[in-house]
This record gives sequence, structure tokens and C-alpha cells, in this order.
Amino acid sequence: MIDLNLLQHAVMDSRDGISIAVAGEVDTPLIFVNPAFERMTGYSYDEAVGRNCRFLQQGYVDPDQREAMRAAVAKGEGFSEVLPNYRKDGTLFWNELSVSPIHDEHGTVTHYIGFQKDVTQRVLLDEKLRARNRDLESAKRALEELVTLDALTGVYNRRHFDSRMGTLWKISARTAESMAIFFIDIDHFKAYNDHFGHQKGDEALIDVAQTLAESFQRGSDFLARYGGEEFVVVACGMDRQPAGYFADELCRRIRDLGIPNPDSPSGRLTISVGYTVVIPQPGMEANAAVKRADEALFAAKHAGRNCAQSAPAPTPSVTVREKRVQKTSSGS
Ligand code: GH3
Ligand code: MG
Ligand code: MG
Repeated sequence: MIDLNLLQHAVMDSRDGISIAVAGEVDTPLIFVNPAFERMTGYSYDEAVGRNCRFLQQGYVDPDQREAMRAAVAKGEGFSEVLPNYRKDGTLFWNELSVSPIHDEHGTVTHYIGFQKDVTQRVLLDEKLRARNRDLESAKRALEELVTLDALTGVYNRRHFDSRMGTLWKISARTAESMAIFFIDIDHFKAYNDHFGHQKGDEALIDVAQTLAESFQRGSDFLARYGGEEFVVVACGMDRQPAGYFADELCRRIRDLGIPNPDSPSGRLTISVGYTVVIPQPGMEANAAVKRADEALFAAKHAGRNCAQSAPAPTPSVTVREKRVQKTSSGS
């Protein structure tokens, strides 16, 4: 058996707080605290003894922690919790408290021995790291938005459109689903800017973008600002007939905003829409489909603006690959 004198030295010289409480008495009072406990808490032996250890918490106990400690004590088990404690001078420190029950020869809990470790530095460092991680997360989110969203209108930007279009194209090719591509351009927008100024022009662009975004709200629809006063929408799974309806509807909705454009023939801010509906096939390229919608937009402008035009239906038999083959054979 180890020398009791040595054990006593170990307890008295420990750098961590050690305390003993009686289990059988009302409110489990402390009957012993070592010098490290006195140093850590600022309470002397005489001030601490006779009180329940919770006096260090000044009334507040986290409900979850209280439940965990109660449950452990009820089962005659030990527990370990990091608790906010207050020194005698009122300053906060974080106490990593480990409590173990001491049993008599009949298995009854007679005492609790508590080890107190001041882990304030670690808790503060953890908190700092968590705060820094939160900052990094929000900076990352802001950066992701910067990379994908158009700063003025808040819809996706051209760069994001280019990368997303490739993905959508591959998915539609795999599922053999039709895809409608709409190219949208504000009519006589230079005249609008010239009349009202660039600032008002920006506001009109935001209104148009918002109206377009409200018009396409399915998860499979994708709106982006393609450049200047041009927008592009990709609607996956949309057939020719609804696409035609939507294109006309877009023109109507923007016209119905009633934004005046005094120097344009209609006197209102309007858009022109060119669209194409394709079922992506192997060998077809997404860019070619986008180009067809752009050409249809050109036709809509030519037809007098404030209207929608469809690209002629693609001939599925003539794919890009076949065109290349045709070219090669005619060149040879
Ligand atoms: P059209 O009907 O043929 O499309 O005529 P338009 O005047 O709209 O076309 P044009 O290409 O001649 O002019 C486009 C105008 O869009 C000129 C440019 O100042 C304006 N614009 C492009 N980007 C912005 C922007 O971010 N803010 C503002 N306020 N104006 C823009
Ligand atoms: Mg324009
Ligand atoms: Mg334009």
C-alpha cells in the first residue's frame, strides 16, 4: 500500500484543484479543498468547506449540463463537464470538473472527489477559432456569390452561365429531355440611358432582371445576365409550345411594367426574345444551340422589336460531327 504521507503530499501539492464532498448530507457539502482549489477560485479552505460546489457558478447552470450531472449522480457514476465558474473577485474562469464517486464496502456512495482544472485559455482559444471559422465561412459565401452572381442585378453572371450550361446540356443529352434557350435583349436601351441617365438605366436593368427571375421559378430554369442589357434563360424539360408561350409572356410582362422609354417608337421599355428548343444529341454542341437563340433574337429585332421569334427547328440528322464529316469529304 502506498505511503499515506506521500498521498497527502500529492493532494496538497497538486497543480489542479481537488475537493471532497459528502454524499449522505443535505446538499452534498464540501469537506475538503486543496491549496490549488484555493488559488484557482480565490476562496479559502474555510470559505469553501460546508458549501455545495455549485456556489462557484453563481446561480447559472446550463440546463443540459445540469441534467447530465444529475443523471450521472443518480446512477452513482462520475461525470466530467467544462463549467463557467466565478472566482471570489467575480472574474470568470472555465473549470473542467471531473467528479468521481467513492463507495463504501457495501457499494454505497459516501463521498465525491472532484478534480478542477482551469481550462480558460483553451476555451477562449476554441471560441476564437470558432469565430474565425464563422468569418471564413461568410467570406467564402460572399466570394462564391461574387464569382457566380452579377453584381448589379443579382442574377447569375455570364461566367457562371458558361460553366452551368455545359452541365445542363450533358444532363439533358443523357435524359433525352428538351431544353429551351431564350435570348433576351432590351430594346432601344441606349435611348433610355441617353434620356434618363446611366443610374436610371441601372435601375431599369434591375427591374427587368427581377421580372424575368419571377417568370422562371422552376428549379430547372436558369437565368443569367449574358452581358450589357442581354439576358439568357435555359429551361430544361420545356417543349416548343410552352416555350413559345413563355417567350410571348416575357415580352408582355416587361411591357406591362410600364417603364417609359420616350425616345423609342413604342414609348415604353420593351424586350425582344429569340428562342430555340432542342433535344441535345451526341455530337451537338451547347454553343451552337445558344447561337441559334441569339440568331432568333436578331430576327425578333428585325421584325420590329417588342416580340419573340423562334429559331427554325434544328434538323437532328445534321449534327456537328456530321457537318465536320461532310466538310472533310467535300474537301477531299
Ligand atoms: P436594340 O434595340 O437594338 O437592342 O438597341 P439598344 O440601344 O438596346 O442596343 P445598343 O447595343 O445600341 O445599346 C445597348 C445599350 O445598353 C448601350 C449601353 O449603354 C447600355 N448598357 C449596357 N450595359 C449597361 C449597364 O450595366 N447599365 C446601363 N445603365 N446601361 C447599360
Ligand atoms: Mg438592346
Ligand atoms: Mg444588346
